[in-house]
Amino acid sequence: MIPGSFDYHRPDSVGAAVKLLVDFGDGARVIAGGHSLIPMMKLRMADLDHLIDLQGINDLKSITVSGANVTIGAMVTQHELIANEALFSMAPIVREAALQIADPQVRYVGTLGGNVANGDPGNDMPGLMQCLDASYTVVGPNGSRDIAARSFYEAAYFTERQDDEILTSISFKSKKGGYAYEKQKRKIGDYATAASAVLIEKDGGNCTAASIAMTNLSDTPVCPQEAAAALIGTALDEASISAAVTAAVNAIDPAEDNRGPVEFKKYVAGIMLRRAIERATARA
Ligand SMILES: Cc1cc2nc3c(=O)[nH]c(=O)nc-3n(C[C@H](O)[C@H](O)[C@H](O)COP(=O)(O)OP(=O)(O)OC[C@H]3O[C@@H](n4cnc5c(N)ncnc54)[C@H](O)[C@@H]3O)c2cc1C
Repeated sequence: MIPGSFDYHRPDSVGAAVKLLVDFGDGARVIAGGHSLIPMMKLRMADLDHLIDLQGINDLKSITVSGANVTIGAMVTQHELIANEALFSMAPIVREAALQIADPQVRYVGTLGGNVANGDPGNDMPGLMQCLDASYTVVGPNGSRDIAARSFYEAAYFTERQDDEILTSISFKSKKGGYAYEKQKRKIGDYATAASAVLIEKDGGNCTAASIAMTNLSDTPVCPQEAAAALIGTALDEASISAAVTAAVNAIDPAEDNRGPVEFKKYVAGIMLRRAIERATARA
């Protein structure tokens, strides 16, 4: 199918883009890489009168690493995340996760901002950003505010962001230690049946900090604190890993679909999480 007709706008600043959103109201939407929005428009699941293209806003296209602080502009593409060496040295899990998104064609165009703003439970970056305890900056007619990734997602396609706000950047503090992003999908280019992001810090043989997030296993990403707590203070032995996996599987709420029934998804989620914990532990 082809999308309905719309007016195209290409502002060169965030302020101008926000003004267009306010002026055109419900009939307007920003477009970043278009790799989620255009398919929705073709399926007539999104019918818009005005598309506001963010490609002309250079301020949204940089990656800044300053000490442990990482800030990524919303219009940075998945490919740019993968290619950036400074980012890789501070947060290698971002490259590992981005490499598992779709295929190179999608990654050359799809943006981090679009991926996290979209609210699609199948997107990989929201869970990763929860694992990193990232913060999103949004700018609207009343100025800018920061929202924790862990409280941004309300339901599938519903987020804390208001319709007249633009997500401008994603920030987090890099953590030392081991990392892993494990994703099971049916084929290259598919969304996750289940995916898991894990960060582990160790001192001697003991786990001093852990962070876990799960993707496509509920309406929103799941960041189970009980699962992380089951690892902290332990030697990351079999019993504590099993306790973490059990806690995480209890926290998810997958729906049956063409990727499988609920019990299968819970099983795969457990496997992905176990693999991620073991690999992160080995790297820590
Ligand atoms: C074949 C295929 C396979 C895919 N597989 C995966 C996968 O495995 N994992 C995965 O994570 N993704 C996958 N994707 C999705 C892809 O990563 C998208 O590019 C991404 O989800 C959205 O980014 P975008 O820049 O294309 O956003 P767009 O499609 O332009 O926008 C998506 C939504 O977010 C809003 N939006 C975009 N940017 C902003 C902003 N800065 N502020 C506020 N709102 C904004 C738009 O208004 C729109 O509602 C796949 C896509 C395709 C086509």
